[in-house]
Amino acid sequence: MNVVPEVAALVPEIRSWRHHIHAHPETAFEEKATSAFVADKLRSFGLDVHAGLAGTGVVGVLKSGRGNGAIGLRADLDALHIHEKSGVAHASKVEGKMHACGHDGHTAMLLGAAAALAQRRDFDGTVYFIFQPAEENEGGGRAMVEEGLFDRFPMRAVYGMHNWPLMPVGKIATRVGPLMGAFDIFEIIAIGKGAHAAMPNTGKDPMLFAAHAISALQTIVARNLHPLESGVVSVTQVHGGDTWNVIPEEVVLRGTARSFDARVQDLIEHRIRTIVAGTAAMFEMSATVRYERRYPATVNAETETAHAIAAASAVVGAANVDADPTPNMGSEDFAFMLNAKPGCYVWLGAGRGPQTPNVHNPHYDFNDDALPIGTSYWVTLVGQQLGA
Ligand SMILES: [Zn+2]
Ligand SMILES: [Zn+2]
Repeated sequence: MNVVPEVAALVPEIRSWRHHIHAHPETAFEEKATSAFVADKLRSFGLDVHAGLAGTGVVGVLKSGRGNGAIGLRADLDALHIHEKSGVAHASKVEGKMHACGHDGHTAMLLGAAAALAQRRDFDGTVYFIFQPAEENEGGGRAMVEEGLFDRFPMRAVYGMHNWPLMPVGKIATRVGPLMGAFDIFEIIAIGKGAHAAMPNTGKDPMLFAAHAISALQTIVARNLHPLESGVVSVTQVHGGDTWNVIPEEVVLRGTARSFDARVQDLIEHRIRTIVAGTAAMFEMSATVRYERRYPATVNAETETAHAIAAASAVVGAANVDADPTPNMGSEDFAFMLNAKPGCYVWLGAGRGPQTPNVHNPHYDFNDDALPIGTSYWVTLVGQQLGA
């Protein structure tokens, strides 16, 4: 393990920042205190600080030498609406909110990298430290891109990182092409005709629609997708009916679809619409579909992935870098940055063994053992990419 010496010296501080952020979680676009904390720290390291992009987003700028090269490193600021059950000393002080995805660790590591690089200044060019709001569900990354992130801060590439509790500390994984899935949501509303449940012949039962539609939707992946392509269609909510003896008028189904490329995404949406229309016709009722594309797939560029693998290998050793992990159908709004700019997103091993709670679990806590590794990865990547 090659922890950068300046990073090793900073670890106690990085850990204390992480614990502070963890204890004070803020959710999408409300990360005011977290954003102010980050801006203060960056200023104290001597960086130029630009606050207010996408509301609570912050960009720190560190220049060294005369070079024109520039890269961006990105972390996320937001927490989740989860009641924390970790039992750790630095547990959330905010009822119902929790850093259950480790964005506290991501923010602390990127701050640590800014502090270390401000000391080292062993590079020639500009590093943009990007702290984005609202990674969870609300697309803060998209908002930053739309508000001109890459116009205001021109860079040749952008890099992201997420802790990965399914992989042990000391390992890093990434791959060329898609690493995380596209995230779509759908809502289906079937409107039949309410009736006395003892006289079903006088109504049009939307429950029947729901039963058939849920089954038929599972044929999209099983029967319509090429066997070697990937997709997920999950119905996750069924709402309808209030009592035992009434056939309701309406049933609402909601769910999510995942995919790695736009062609599959188009196919899934098309088949959902066809199946819903056909099922409604079969039972002589009407049904509507709202299909919303939330996040695109997270797709790594070839050259930048090679750079990320080189930096990761320098820190954890080539044997501990997995350059072809199985992609995951979770999603990530860093995808919007990768759609606008070449770059690479990596998974940072954060597991403590098979019992480690995964992200979004109420018992989860970011693994502090990963702090020196993730921070050293950032510092090493800058040294290699903007080498003086
Ligand atoms: Zn998350
Ligand atoms: Zn996350």
